[in-house]
Amino acid sequence: MKENHFFRSILTIIICAILVLAAPMTVFSAPETAKGEELIIGVPKDRCPIFYSDDTTKEAVGIGVDLMRSAAEEAGYRVSFRIMEEENLKDALDNEEYDVIMPFGSAIKSTAGQSSIVTENLIQTPFTLVTMGGNDMPPFNELKVGMLYSLSGAAETVHNLYPGIEIKMYDTMPDCVKALRKGEVDALLHNSYVWSYVLQKPSYSDLTVQPSAMFSMDFRAGTLDTPKGQEVVERLNEGIATLSDTRRQAIILDHTSRRLYKYDFMDYLYQYGLPISLIVILFLALIVIAIQRIYVIRKEQAEKVEDMLDHDPLTGVLSMRGFRKRVEELLKENPDIPYLLSFVNIKNFKYINDSLGMDAGDDLLRFLASKTKETLSEKEAMCRIEADRFAVLRRSGGEELLNKDDQDVVESIRNYFVNKGKENRVQICGGVYVLIPEDYKNADVDHMLDLARVAEKRVRETKSDGYEFYNPEQWERGKRVANVVNHLHSALRDGEIQVWYQPQVDYGTGRITGAEALCRWNHSRLSWLQPADFIPTLEESGLIYDLDSFVWERVCQDLKRWNEQGIKRFVSVNVSRNDIREDRDIPKQFYNLIQKYNLSTDQLRIEITETAFAENSDLLIHTTEKLQEYGFQVEMDDFGSGYSSLHMLKEVPVDRIKLDLRFLTDAGDLEKGQLIIGYMIQMIHSLGMQLIIEGVETVEQADFLMDQGSMEMQGFYFYKPMPVEEFEKLGQ
Ligand code: C2E
Ligand code: MG
Ligand code: MG
Repeated sequence: MKENHFFRSILTIIICAILVLAAPMTVFSAPETAKGEELIIGVPKDRCPIFYSDDTTKEAVGIGVDLMRSAAEEAGYRVSFRIMEEENLKDALDNEEYDVIMPFGSAIKSTAGQSSIVTENLIQTPFTLVTMGGNDMPPFNELKVGMLYSLSGAAETVHNLYPGIEIKMYDTMPDCVKALRKGEVDALLHNSYVWSYVLQKPSYSDLTVQPSAMFSMDFRAGTLDTPKGQEVVERLNEGIATLSDTRRQAIILDHTSRRLYKYDFMDYLYQYGLPISLIVILFLALIVIAIQRIYVIRKEQAEKVEDMLDHDPLTGVLSMRGFRKRVEELLKENPDIPYLLSFVNIKNFKYINDSLGMDAGDDLLRFLASKTKETLSEKEAMCRIEADRFAVLRRSGGEELLNKDDQDVVESIRNYFVNKGKENRVQICGGVYVLIPEDYKNADVDHMLDLARVAEKRVRETKSDGYEFYNPEQWERGKRVANVVNHLHSALRDGEIQVWYQPQVDYGTGRITGAEALCRWNHSRLSWLQPADFIPTLEESGLIYDLDSFVWERVCQDLKRWNEQGIKRFVSVNVSRNDIREDRDIPKQFYNLIQKYNLSTDQLRIEITETAFAENSDLLIHTTEKLQEYGFQVEMDDFGSGYSSLHMLKEVPVDRIKLDLRFLTDAGDLEKGQLIIGYMIQMIHSLGMQLIIEGVETVEQADFLMDQGSMEMQGFYFYKPMPVEEFEKLGQ
């Protein structure tokens, strides 16, 4: 019994040992099977969560992959998944690189027409319709449904199941959605797992799943119906049969609820578009503000530097650089202001510095600068050129102003140290350049200063101090202009301007037929001035109208007085070309005068010089016509002085031509001149115009003119212009 027991114990140990050893062997035998044949399985891409590519490994993953892997490995295959390049399953069936492809709902024919076989169903995939939110769906049989091309197998199954449904295929999901939104299709069809993923896209929030319109489709693998294919399908079916429902659910869960939709850039943009835009705008605005700020700071800095360069640090007045700019500006802006440019130099500055010290010298420079600056207006400028040399641009205000400045400014500078109880009298030398019209057109400040410097040198070398003009004749002329322009109004007021009359005669009868009013200026300081001395200046400075309207009024007053005395006279008045402007209704003004003094319009004749017609013929012709409408006679003065005299005759509707003998007889061949005058008289008569010849100085001229048939004359041979009292004495 004992032996038996021992034997039994040995047997138990052996069995246990076998069991212990056998157990690991069973465990290790599994890889033996996994090492079997390799199965290459083609799957579509971009169908998350059924099939998609892993972010890191780039390999195909998804519900379909995991299900198939489980089944195939159960069947003893090593599997590798490849993402199919083909557009659809039918094409992929014909590709020999794949042993199996998926997913199939049922067996279909390949593109090449070969039959296929499919495995058992791996999982029942629910297919769901998606519509635009709130849209009513048409009845199932009239439905237009959009599907992906890659689902053509499924599309065929749907077509077989529901022949009434019209299916439209699209390349991508965005294309499908676009078609739905445009109303090309009523709904989109795809499996629910894909929808559960895709519809997380924020921009698809308007799409709604139609749970009522769900149907199920098989999810199978397939291959060509060949002996090898049949064998593979058979083995796979065995593997599929081993898949439990729990395993299936686990795989689905693994790729749906556990895996979240991944936002791409566009999703973020869609979802957070407004805040992102605001942030971007804010950011851009900050950049713009920063750039502007930098620009302003730079500009301010540049202006500061410019300002420093344009000013003299010691005296605060302009530097030479700043002065150049300012003078150019002033001359451009004020072409009518007559300017002087002075170069000022302290003759004994070196001595002052040596004897009184540099600080005293600096004080003097500052004093000179501030004292001079006080006298300058906004339209004047000064600078310190260097050391003790200054330049000043000031208005040429006539001699009085210059003397006054000399007294006020220069004298106080001369006595700067004397007033402080020291002996040193400051010697100031100045050179003055009077600007000419060309300087305004092309302001060369350095050149003008050089000229002023030449005059200053003369002073420095010949006198102890004082100033001299570089161009004194220009200064004289300027003084005359200033005298005329500055004193016209007081002259008119104080009776310095008089109207003189030069009688016009009929040479045949010797009778006075009229007179020309000519102004004379009895200037308080310059005594009698002829029109040539002041009329051009008044025309240039725009003051001629003031003088002319005075003359016209005075003539009308005289005519009225004579009328009242029972003497009817006829007077020609001169109208300057500058009087006639669009905004000045000269004809109306003459008419008003006639009314005011109760004259008849034929008593006042209006003389307009020929050259004025040539300059602005339209306005002049218009004015002439208006004057004639009021009943005035218009005369063309100085006929023969311009270059277009004959042309003027044709164009301008004047009543009387005033031919100036001097223009035709002053120079050249006298005989030819007489010939021309003879023909001109004939021509003017032929044109039916009246004629008066002025500038008749000799009896020969008068006789010659009478021979040519011209009777009315004006000239020194008969009378010179005379004051009104003398004219009145001539009687009628
Ligand atoms: P104008 O209108 O041609 O006037 C004739 C000028 O010729 C006058 O010169 C007159 O004194 C001068 N004269 C007349 N007969 C003779 C002569 O036989 N020999 C010479 N050598 N000269 C003669 P005046 O008064 O010096 O005037 C010159 C110009 O000034 C005038 O030429 C006219 O254009 C202008 N003028 C004169 N007074 C006025 C006026 O009140 N207003 C305007 N706008 N211009 C005037
Ligand atoms: Mg005249
Ligand atoms: Mg004349």
